[in-house]
Amino acid sequence: MKSCKPEEDETAESPAKFSEVPGKSTVECEPSDQPLEGLTLASHEVLEKAQLTGRLKCPKCGGSRMFYCYTCFSLVGLCENQVPVLKLPVKIDIIKHPNETDGKSTAVHAKLIAPDDVSIYTYPCIPELEESAHDVVLVFPGPESITVQEMAKRFQEDSDAHAPSGKRQKTADGKATAGAHAGTRAPQRVIFIDSTWNQTNRIISDERLQALTQVELKTRKTCFWRHQKGSPDTYLATIEAIYYFLRDYHVHCLCKDYHGEYDNLLFFFSYLHKLIHKAKVSAGKL
Ligand SMILES: [Zn+2]
Repeated sequence: MKSCKPEEDETAESPAKFSEVPGKSTVECEPSDQPLEGLTLASHEVLEKAQLTGRLKCPKCGGSRMFYCYTCFSLVGLCENQVPVLKLPVKIDIIKHPNETDGKSTAVHAKLIAPDDVSIYTYPCIPELEESAHDVVLVFPGPESITVQEMAKRFQEDSDAHAPSGKRQKTADGKATAGAHAGTRAPQRVIFIDSTWNQTNRIISDERLQALTQVELKTRKTCFWRHQKGSPDTYLATIEAIYYFLRDYHVHCLCKDYHGEYDNLLFFFSYLHKLIHKAKVSAGKL
C-alpha cells in the first residue's frame, strides 16, 4: 500500500505564478447571511500593510507572492508573529489534486495557521492509513456520508461498547499500537480533499479511501469567491470545510460551546473575501 510523506517546504519546481482573483470561469456567489461577519479574528492590519508593499519574492523559491507562498507553505512579507497560530484538537490531512492550481487553493491557509496539525499531500500520495483507519474520517459529500453530529454519536457508541477495558486487540500478535486509539470518543485524524468539483472523482474513488467513514457538512453554504459552475453552493472551499468541521467537532465531539476558537483559520480567507467583495462593489457588480 503506497503512501507518502506530506509535502515539505522545499518544492521549488512549480511555476511561480500568482493567480489573479477572481477566476474567470466562475459564477458569482454572495451568501445572504454573511457567515464571515462576527468572526473573532486577529487584526487584518498586517495584511493591509503587506498589500501596500505589494508582491515580494518568496525567499525559498523566488516566486512572486502576496502574503504567503502557496508552493512553499511559507509567509512572504509577513513575520510569523504577525499571523495567528492555532493548535487544533485533531490532525488534519489534506489531499491535493495534482492539477489543482496552487494559487487558487485555500489548503495553504490551514497549513500556515495550524502548522503543527496540518499536513498536505499531493495525490497519488495519501496519508498512511493502515494502522489507524478506524479513527480517521474523510470529509466529503456522498450517499453514505453522515453529519459530524452523527459521527460523534457513532464514536461515542463505539467507545461505550468497548468500556470499561477501553482496549481492543487490532492484531493477533498484539502489536504495540493495538488498542492505542480504540474506544476513542472522536476521530483523531480528518482527511479533506482539495480539488475542484470536477477533479475529485479520481481521488474519492481511490480504493485506499473506501474504508473510511465519510462526513458531510450538509448545512453550510460557501462564501468562496471562486464558486464553481455546476457545483452545489454547499461545496465549500477547503479552508471553509476545515473550519466548519472543527466548529461542529468542538460542539459535538468535545461537547463544548463554541466561542470563536477556530475563527482565525479564516484569517486569510476572510481578508481575501473582503477584498473581492470591495472590488465587486466598486465595479458596480453588487
Ligand atoms: Zn515559495
